[in-house]
Amino acid sequence: MKISLGFILLFLLGISSDRCTQNEEAEKPNILYIMADDLAFQAISAYGGLYKEIAPTPNIDRLAKEGMLFSNAFCTNSICGPSRAVILTGKYSHLNGFYKNEGGDPFDSTQVTFPKLLQSAGYATAVIGKWHLWSQPTGFDYFKYHIDNAEQGVYWNPTFNENGKSVSEKGYATTLTGDFAINWLDNLRDKSKPFCLLYQFKAPHRPWDPDSMNLDLFGSAEMPFPSTFDDNYATRELTAGKTMMTIEGYLSNRDLKLTPPPGLGGKELAKWNVQGVRGEYVSPSDTLKGEALKRWKFQRYIKDYLATVKSLDDNVGRILEYLDNHNLTKNTIVVFTSDQGFYLGEHGWYDKRFMYEESLRMPLIIRYPGKIKPGSKSDGMVVNIDYAPTLLSLAGVKVPEEMQGESFESLFTGRVPSGWRNSMYYHYYEYPKWHNVQPHYGIRTDRYKLIHFYYDIDVWEFYDLQSDPHELNNSYNNPKYKEVISNLKTQLADLQKKYKDTATLDEMREVTTKGMVKY
Ligand code: CA
Repeated sequence: MKISLGFILLFLLGISSDRCTQNEEAEKPNILYIMADDLAFQAISAYGGLYKEIAPTPNIDRLAKEGMLFSNAFCTNSICGPSRAVILTGKYSHLNGFYKNEGGDPFDSTQVTFPKLLQSAGYATAVIGKWHLWSQPTGFDYFKYHIDNAEQGVYWNPTFNENGKSVSEKGYATTLTGDFAINWLDNLRDKSKPFCLLYQFKAPHRPWDPDSMNLDLFGSAEMPFPSTFDDNYATRELTAGKTMMTIEGYLSNRDLKLTPPPGLGGKELAKWNVQGVRGEYVSPSDTLKGEALKRWKFQRYIKDYLATVKSLDDNVGRILEYLDNHNLTKNTIVVFTSDQGFYLGEHGWYDKRFMYEESLRMPLIIRYPGKIKPGSKSDGMVVNIDYAPTLLSLAGVKVPEEMQGESFESLFTGRVPSGWRNSMYYHYYEYPKWHNVQPHYGIRTDRYKLIHFYYDIDVWEFYDLQSDPHELNNSYNNPKYKEVISNLKTQLADLQKKYKDTATLDEMREVTTKGMVKY
């Protein structure tokens, strides 16, 4: 049999180009981006804290044991939709246009996002679970996200938008999200490509409904109270003192899982459920009052919250096990984070929004076998504008100029390189609904924090985090700090210039006023 030289050449070329493609693909890491909603770093045992013994998170901790735990990751606008928009675009709210959840505009989905760039670079992409940006996701081969409650989602029997079709599901949202993610990895994705999966939970967002087997997870144990639980807001009367997010005054019948009076249904039941949201008096009995009632509410809140975290942790474990069993662990970067931090009773609160530590700080853990030393830690300052540039650069994709963050890959060494950021800029807009937190912007350095609350008050706050780590004493008027504050104001103005947030106060107020929802 005669085989022409041309045929052999073509055959060999065919093999070598196949090999080349396979090699290139093998080098591209998969990305599993896991994001919880409203998950406080204080609820993760790898971060230590009050609940590490009683409510451990072994699967999230596994990522910390095998990867790197970041202790200074911060968000730029501590609320669900806005943080998600920042993460996708690598740009602050005033540039990506998604300023607030309540009364804001849908996310402009024509923008450049990291999933879109990864998809163009040959990645199979999907987002599963919570999206909450009101415009349909772009840049994904597959999506399936919560649509109930204006895309907040519900814990039980949720409805999803699956690639443009509404689908009702039966079961518990956290477990369903795990099922769908594993199904995509196993059956739906194009396995010839590296993947980027955004695995995003509704949990542990309000109203903190545990799975049925976790309803009594902590029994009658008394959960510890944070040291600032009884904060009286002295020196912060007009800001921290004016919120509608105290555990004592602003949890509803529904939040507290109280039993409705018999015979209540329809609109009456709905009204009863939200009773407490505007500060109405709510108690399970005529006799439980005052300090005892406040402490009772905290116990109910923290137990439900941590029980929803248990399911979240279980479903992190399921997907890690899937990676193990399918030989994917080694070549998959796993990121674990939350859209922002949360108050677990600190300052007497639930919720987020403030530039204070608990809501500013995001949990962030990254596992990348071979590139990150197991069990390592970084205190380098990371901001959520950095997430997109980092993931793109790890995938070998050029980071667009317009992204405002920087890849923090260099922190993977465990050292903070000289010249790395030593301050970050924050800006929050939504007011008064929900929770009556004044719009504010500010700067945080490794030691100090300066905040300007500006909507219909004009209040500056300053904290020395070294001497006042819980931010209980607004020291703005302390003469000792006069020069420090003056320097911080200069740095703050520089950051505003750098990030192009140079609107006037009136223009900033206009963002809050537009579409404002009042109580
Ligand atoms: Ca959130």
